Amino acid sequence: MYEGPVQDLIDELGKLPGVGPKSAQRIAFHLLGVEPPEIDRLLGALQKVRDGVQFCVVCGTVAAERECRICADPRRDRTLVCVVEEPKDVQAVERTREFKGLYHVLGGALDPLAGVGPDQLRIRELLTRIGNQEDGVDVAEVIIATDPNTVGEATATYLSRMLRDFPGLKVTRLASGLPMGGDIEFADELTLGRALAGRRAL
Ligand SMILES: [Zn+2]
Repeated sequence: MYEGPVQDLIDELGKLPGVGPKSAQRIAFHLLGVEPPEIDRLLGALQKVRDGVQFCVVCGTVAAERECRICADPRRDRTLVCVVEEPKDVQAVERTREFKGLYHVLGGALDPLAGVGPDQLRIRELLTRIGNQEDGVDVAEVIIATDPNTVGEATATYLSRMLRDFPGLKVTRLASGLPMGGDIEFADELTLGRALAGRRAL
């Protein structure tokens, strides 16, 4: 245990995901050594997050404006919608450079034991979006890219059932090859790119 503010900083950093006690200590001592303007930039970024981050009104990912960069891009294929759990999964699929469509972020996966039901996720928004495209372009295919773990699979099954009601809509799931029980965020670009290319119909 250190005394005073240094220990407070280590304690706060240690609460972050993926930061163990040793990393917390290393980051804290790194911050002790950086110039004040750098600390100010970090504080500024934290303040902006505290004061509220915008989410894209179309897909639900983190956005700087009303619509995110991807949804606002006229070159994206609006007939394809890739459904993911979290904004970080959008980044993972983008890194593959294999996907030119749009996204839909659910905000998690169905997990009844943790109290996450369909109403806690952006499922109604997805159904509305597919039923009634604002720009008049019909969605031809929904690619379900939830994580290859128990809750992700349960979510995919639920979604495929809900999407069955849309005539002519193709519903696909990322191909296997992704490590079971994993998180698409951690899949390497090549594996995820292949899973996307080899997606199968549900
Ligand atoms: Zn968007």
